[in-house]
This record gives sequence, structure tokens and C-alpha cells, in this order.
Amino acid sequence: MKKFDVIVVGAGTAGCLTAKTAAEAGLEVGLLDRKPREKIGEKICGDAIGKHHFDTLGLNYPSGDELQSRIEGIKIYSPDMETVFQIENEMLYGFIVNRILFGQRLLKLAVDAGATLLDSTLVVEPTIKGNAVVGILSRDIKTEAKIQLQCKVVVDASGFLAILRRKLPSEIGVDTEVSNEDVEACYREIRQLDGHVASPDFCEIYLDQNTAPQGYYWIFPEGETKTNVGLGVRMTKNFPKPKDQLCNNVLCKPLFKDSVLITGGAWCVPTRRPLDCMVGNGIVMVGDSACQVNPIHGGGMGPSMMGGMFAGEVIVEALERGDVTREGLWQYNMRYMQSYGAKQAGLDIFRFFLLQGVSDDEINYGMKYQLITEEDILKTSRGENVRLNITEATRRVSKGLGKLSMLRRLRNAARLMREIKVLYKNYPDSPKGFEEWKKKTHELITTADRLLSRKQ
Ligand SMILES: Cc1cc2nc3c(=O)[nH]c(=O)nc-3n(C[C@H](O)[C@H](O)[C@H](O)COP(=O)(O)OP(=O)(O)OC[C@H]3O[C@@H](n4cnc5c(N)ncnc54)[C@H](O)[C@@H]3O)c2cc1C
Repeated sequence: MKKFDVIVVGAGTAGCLTAKTAAEAGLEVGLLDRKPREKIGEKICGDAIGKHHFDTLGLNYPSGDELQSRIEGIKIYSPDMETVFQIENEMLYGFIVNRILFGQRLLKLAVDAGATLLDSTLVVEPTIKGNAVVGILSRDIKTEAKIQLQCKVVVDASGFLAILRRKLPSEIGVDTEVSNEDVEACYREIRQLDGHVASPDFCEIYLDQNTAPQGYYWIFPEGETKTNVGLGVRMTKNFPKPKDQLCNNVLCKPLFKDSVLITGGAWCVPTRRPLDCMVGNGIVMVGDSACQVNPIHGGGMGPSMMGGMFAGEVIVEALERGDVTREGLWQYNMRYMQSYGAKQAGLDIFRFFLLQGVSDDEINYGMKYQLITEEDILKTSRGENVRLNITEATRRVSKGLGKLSMLRRLRNAARLMREIKVLYKNYPDSPKGFEEWKKKTHELITTADRLLSRKQ
């Protein structure tokens, strides 16, 4: 059996970028996926990805059959549909991709770089020796044969299932469980319309707590006559079934009259800040397995590829030094936290406000009278701080006299977002400062939940 330096479990967006980066540097990389090769990349997804991710990662933009639509911006609809924020900005330029073709391109990049693909291979558990991960146990799905593989570093890129992370012993120093309250349960369909999409260049997001409690529903164009329509609800106790919510409240819209279902399905996405620590002795978590997803809109393809690239780079450096301990891999935490992680943590705070904190009535009022503005959304999506100067604060207060508590929460959200970003920018440079950092982060998150979420 071939010996690997690195075994990457999962050939999704995160795994392919990790494998590509590590293989390009000359490491022996095994890339394992339970799917057969031709199905890799197939994923229940909104299929939307920002152009800036391709620029950051040095990847070619989607083209040909892989490109379904070019996106110029987003439209956000208030629950009563009376106000629409149409936000166009370079930061929001992007693409709707044919997901399987995009996934197959990433897979080819990894394999062309030298990674060995073991497809139809179900990974069962990590192999632990002492206090370190030293390999994995897997099963060939076609032959049922058990396969034990050893390596120097294992990467959990198995997506939401986080098949390895969930089985790690606590001494490894990684949080194994993610609360259901930080997960959106989704249902999505791709539909051939009888007519044309209303806005072929825009991703449409609908805020509506009745239809998508503590989430939203979306209608994204896949070309001129197809849509990607879906919905996410927060997995709190007794959450409604996303499929029922979509069928009963969204697919009854005139747009979908006489439309034909092409494909549909349910899946989950973690919508919170990244795991506090994403490395342990001999193991690294990337992508959904590390909660590297934008907590507001659920976009995880871009961050997971960035996580994969950082993980690949740090693994190469760690192997050069011959140190794959938690400490030796720590740079990966730092690189991610100080870049996308800081933005993600800020957006996690904004999630407490926007998706969990305000009622439909407040959003209707807030959007109509500009208590929340397009500029706020744009700045937030860019990862910038929202600050209200005195004139702006006075304007909003005078408009929002009946909604002062909402304005107070918005101000608190803006303050806490700034504070958490500072914490993430100062992520400790070694495991030594980690416990103190974690304590401060959790205190801030608890405060955000208390001050911003509606249940209080
Ligand atoms: C409904 C929905 C809509 C979304 N919309 C968007 C969007 O519009 N834009 C966006 O950017 N993101 C979106 N996301 C999020 C995005 O899909 C993920 O964040 C992203 O795909 C994460 O990639 P990943 O590589 O971590 O995981 P995945 O893409 O899930 O890949 C994991 C891989 O691991 C493999 N695997 C799992 N278990 C095992 C095992 N035991 N053994 C071997 N292999 C295994 C799987 O087969 C899979 O190939 C959406 C998610 C959902 C659920």
C-alpha cells in the first residue's frame, strides 16, 4: 500500500484545495472520497460564489458549461415585500456555477498536481496513537475491504458530517461537537421555469421569519430560465421541515407555475464562527468540518477553498520542520483567523442581530425607514465596521422612535462586531495563549446572544 505524507478525507471544495496545495509542493497526498469519481462535486448548494474568491486563490473564473450565470449584486426583500435593497458592488460580483462541473475542475487540479484519488472509499474513523492522529481506517465501498492508511498529517475535509472531528478524543484539543443552534437545515431545488427569471443578474434573498425561521429563502438564477431555489431554517427545538416550508410558501409563487423539478434535496450548513482551534497533533480541519462558512448567507465554497489553501501551505511548512504537532500546525489557525476568520466572527455577531434578533415587523420598518441601510449590509459583507456618526445616529433615532430597542441592538451589534474582530486579529501565535483567548471569545459570544437575540 502506498504511503502518504498527507491524507485528505473528502474531495469537496476544501479537500481539493488542500490536496492541490500540498501536492504542488511535492508531498505525497492521498485524497479520499466516499463518492465515485464522476459524482465528486455534486452538492446540494445555492451554487453562488463571489468573483473575489477566484482572485484571492488564483483560480480561473468559471466559463463554458461550468458558468450558469454572472452575478452583479444581490436584492434583499423585506418580509412584507415592500422594500427591496438592491446592492451592486464589485465585492458582490460573482457567479452561479454548475456545481458538479466546478467540483470536477477542482478535483482535476488536485489530481494534476499529483494527489492520488481513492474514490468510493468511505472513511470510518481516525487512527490514534498516544495523543496524535497517525492515519485513518476506511472501507472500499465496492469490495467492502477494510483499508488502514498511515500518514504524517490527516485532514478532515468531510464537510458537515465532520467524520473525523466528531470522533477525536478531547485531549486532541479540538471542539468535536457543533451546537444544532449554529446549524441551518436547508432544502433546495433546481427548477426549469415555464417563463424567465425576473432578475438574471441578481441573487435574491428573502427575509421572512414565517417561511424561514431564523434563516432566509433564496431564488438564484441558473441561466435565463432555471432557478436554484431554497431555504434554510435554524435547527432549534421543533424547527419546521425546510422542504414543507419551501413547498408551502415559496414554490406557490407565480414564478414557479408550471415549472419542472430538475433535482432537489436537503442538507445542513454550519453558520457560526470557525472552530476556535482547527488543529491537533497530526490533524487539521478544513471547510464545513471547521465551520468555515459565512454565518449570514451560508456561503462556504470560497472560505473552504481559502481554508484548504492555508492548510496545505502550513502542512508543507510543518513537514519541512518535521513538526506536525498541534503547535507545529498552529500557523494554520492564525492564518485563517486573522484573515477570513475575523470577518466570519463579526458576521456571527451580526447573525444574532439580523437572523435571530429582529422580528419581521422590525425588519419591515427598519428597511423602509432606513434604520438599517444598504450601506450597512454592504459594509458588513465586506467585513468593514459599521459606525454611526452623530448626524447619522440622530437621523436614525428620529426615524425610529417607535423602534428604539432595535436601534439599541443594532448599535450593540456594531460595537460587538468591532470587538470580536480585534480578538480574532490578535489570535494567539501559539497554543500558550489559547485558553485565555477562548475564554474572552466565549464571553463575547454569550454577551452578543444576551443583548441581540430575540429570546431574551
Ligand atoms: C442548501 C445549501 C446551500 C448552500 N449555498 C451555498 C452557496 O450558494 N454558495 C456557497 O459558497 N456555499 C453554499 N453552501 C455551503 C457550501 O456548500 C459548503 O460550505 C461547501 O461546499 C463546503 O465544502 P467542504 O469541502 O467543506 O464540504 P463538502 O462540499 O460537503 O465536501 C465534503 C466531501 O467529503 C466527502 N465525505 C463525507 N463523508 C465522508 C466519509 N466518511 N468518507 C469519505 N468521504 C466523505 C463527501 O462525499 C464530499 O465530497 C450551501 C450549503 C447548503 C447545504
